[in-house]
Amino acid sequence: MTTPPGYGEGYAQGNDSLHDAVGAYVLGVLDPADASVFEAHLPGCALCTARLDELSGMPPMLAMLAQEAPPQTGPVPRLQATRMEPPAATPSPPALDRLLNEVTAQHARRRKRTRYMLAAAVAMIIAGPAVAVAAMSGDGPRTNQAGQPQVGQADAAFDGVTEKLRATDAATKVTATVGTEKKAWGTRTVLELKNVKGPLKCNLVAVSTSGEEEVLTSWAVPAWGYGIEDSPQEMARKPLYVHGGAAMDRNDIDHFEVRTFTGERLVKIPA
Ligand SMILES: [Zn+2]
Repeated sequence: MTTPPGYGEGYAQGNDSLHDAVGAYVLGVLDPADASVFEAHLPGCALCTARLDELSGMPPMLAMLAQEAPPQTGPVPRLQATRMEPPAATPSPPALDRLLNEVTAQHARRRKRTRYMLAAAVAMIIAGPAVAVAAMSGDGPRTNQAGQPQVGQADAAFDGVTEKLRATDAATKVTATVGTEKKAWGTRTVLELKNVKGPLKCNLVAVSTSGEEEVLTSWAVPAWGYGIEDSPQEMARKPLYVHGGAAMDRNDIDHFEVRTFTGERLVKIPA
């Protein structure tokens, strides 16, 4: 057993609340101590490993929903969640129902704030398959499985962008590549992020030549991270792709920054 001493008595005995932590872990909303406990439990638990595989494609999917959307005013994920109401006829995938139930139960005795965050995240997840199917109608494989298609789409969009700006921070070692596209409404971006571990919440910020700032998009990094090349977990080896948009004209942008919600700069990308 790799479970830390003292853990088994307090948490897992006679109930399966630890197994239920997998949903919260996937969404990156476990606090660091709980995430560590869960990570210690994971290698020895086939149930959690299977669930993790099933659910692991969902956080990147949140970011993919911004694809092709014109820039919104204000924080992107919250607006996406309210703007993209799932069509009434769209059944929510069983895995998502279970995720919401598990995670809500997991946090019922904890912070209310977490539940609001989860509600927004799950609304976006449920909207995802409908958006993905709409985007893929016409040609290409018709699939609304959570995970791979969304990542693939972002990858393709990223490959299609001609201007790419790339930087690696000497201190954090985080690598970011920002694809930019000048639009009538401003600037469209596709961010590829590598070598970043969570749990973290991040913004992509555009800084103009006169020092003005605009947040293009935000996202969460789960504990296992993104673009970790030597990670034993396949999902952690994949980069994160996030779409964003700013009203700022492309020619006015001096540089981009990836920042945590607490204000730490992970990497600066000169434009
Ligand atoms: Zn388990």
